[in-house]
Amino acid sequence: MRRPIIAGNWKMNNTIAAGTALIKELAPLVKDVKDVDIVACPTATALAAVAAAAKGTNIHVGAQNVHWEAKGAYTGEISTEMLNEIGAEYVIVGHSERRDYFGETDEGVNKRAKAAFAAGITPIICCGESLDICEAGTYLDYVANQVKAALNGFSAEEAAKLVIAYEPIWAIGTGKTATFEQAEEVCAHIRKTVAAMFNQTAADAIRIQYGGSVKPATIQGLMQKPNVDGALVGGAALKAVDFSQIVKF
Ligand code: PEP
Repeated sequence: MRRPIIAGNWKMNNTIAAGTALIKELAPLVKDVKDVDIVACPTATALAAVAAAAKGTNIHVGAQNVHWEAKGAYTGEISTEMLNEIGAEYVIVGHSERRDYFGETDEGVNKRAKAAFAAGITPIICCGESLDICEAGTYLDYVANQVKAALNGFSAEEAAKLVIAYEPIWAIGTGKTATFEQAEEVCAHIRKTVAAMFNQTAADAIRIQYGGSVKPATIQGLMQKPNVDGALVGGAALKAVDFSQIVKF
């Protein structure tokens, strides 16, 4: 009932030339996939070219961040109007790398998500705990609090249309995937949090991805879990064959 969504976070990789080449290689590999939303999230400079290369394919394009203000003196930021202009349908917000390296806060993540949604761009809202929090055993509360902060001010109808990516920081880029059970435990808890915050309809509709070293070998086990609706993929999204295999789980 929930349509799976697999998104590739290219991070600070791929020039315009490399990004368009990747789309051209990926498009024929995934052209017959009808029941999964496929999203590629290139870096800002490649967004327009990648969106043009993806036109007419079943690959959607997403940005890696967006600012909440419409315009003005916000050096280095990108507005929703700019993303709409190039046809970005999704945007990643609150990635742990943005939070950890660039000081993004729960409040800022909420503002970015709300601005994107208001502009018709679906935010992929990231959450996830560090290794310390995981080992301390407080990760469910920690992630629930991130979700509550990020979804603050949305209506139940709006929340139903959002995408949340649960990405344990200790599994990102480390080759260490959470077990299928660990991913399911937290994704189920996120859904429960959404139900308590809004209602069961919103909780049943919202799509929750797992992210953290997802590979062709692990996607099937993850997707078999009832509360995992897709994946946010970093490293493996940079290889057309690997990403196509993930998309075709
Ligand atoms: C990510 O950073 O969103 C991610 C999941 O990266 P990787 O797949 O490389 O762990």
